Amino acid sequence: MAQPQRVYEAWKGSNRFFFGGRLIFGPDAKSLLVSVALIAVPVAVFCVFVARHLRHHFPAYNAGYAILAIAIVFTIYVLLLLFITASQDPGIIPRASHPPEEDFHYDNLSLADTPGRLQFPRIKEVVVNGMPVKIKYCETCMIFRPPRCSHCSICNNCVERFDHHCPWVGQCIGKRNYRYFFLFVSSSSLLCIYIFAMSALYIKFLMDEDYPTVWKALKHSPASLALLIYCFICLWFVGGLTGFHTYLISTNQVGLSCEIDPYLFLLVVFFSAHLIRIFCFLCCFLPRQLYVV
Ligand SMILES: [Zn+2]
Ligand SMILES: [Zn+2]
Repeated sequence: MAQPQRVYEAWKGSNRFFFGGRLIFGPDAKSLLVSVALIAVPVAVFCVFVARHLRHHFPAYNAGYAILAIAIVFTIYVLLLLFITASQDPGIIPRASHPPEEDFHYDNLSLADTPGRLQFPRIKEVVVNGMPVKIKYCETCMIFRPPRCSHCSICNNCVERFDHHCPWVGQCIGKRNYRYFFLFVSSSSLLCIYIFAMSALYIKFLMDEDYPTVWKALKHSPASLALLIYCFICLWFVGGLTGFHTYLISTNQVGLSCEIDPYLFLLVVFFSAHLIRIFCFLCCFLPRQLYVV
């Protein structure tokens, strides 16, 4: 007996599927590799050229090792969020196989104007929470788009509560992956701040030791200088994005839905809470250690 065709096998959009349709990526998913490199390479440089030298600066509780461990764990967390954002259904509305029949408009005049084609309104008015809202028809997906839904020209799908198609993630950002995208952007900002702060701390240690001026210390550790510049530039992007999306969420301009995998979300929240605790611990712990000789 022939196997029934799976939804992803008959998919008309431009998405790419992996693991039997369990993971769904955008058509430009390759850009994900560039994004991973932009995160992983600077962290590798940090671990090898900065964090390695900081290991023995905090002898109490071997706290120096925590700097290295946090950088690695935090990076894995950020990359995981990036992967979840890129591999999840952003809220694609399945295409219809034919135009909505209930809206067909059997008008003889219009039929006479365009023979052989049925006419129906491209915009219709629906009532949402007692308010009349105009919704548009999508020619490609053959559906009337719900409010805040847009057709992504790259993925060639209508996406519910569409925010944008992110070229760095290679996926639409919409109803179902917005939370992970926001967590990814805000965590990337924190990672930037962390790498920047630790690189600056290493420069300070160098200045306290054999390199009395900032320039001499930076010359001794060009990796720190490169990381300071790189994190500063990145922070303008990811920090700006975090601020912008925080503003959108706080003013309710982004529709957040509970229609996401609750187990996955709980796992991310649990992990985030632990990371924040470790981060706070380190932030409180390090300054005190600076005064202990
Ligand atoms: Zn569409
Ligand atoms: Zn898209």
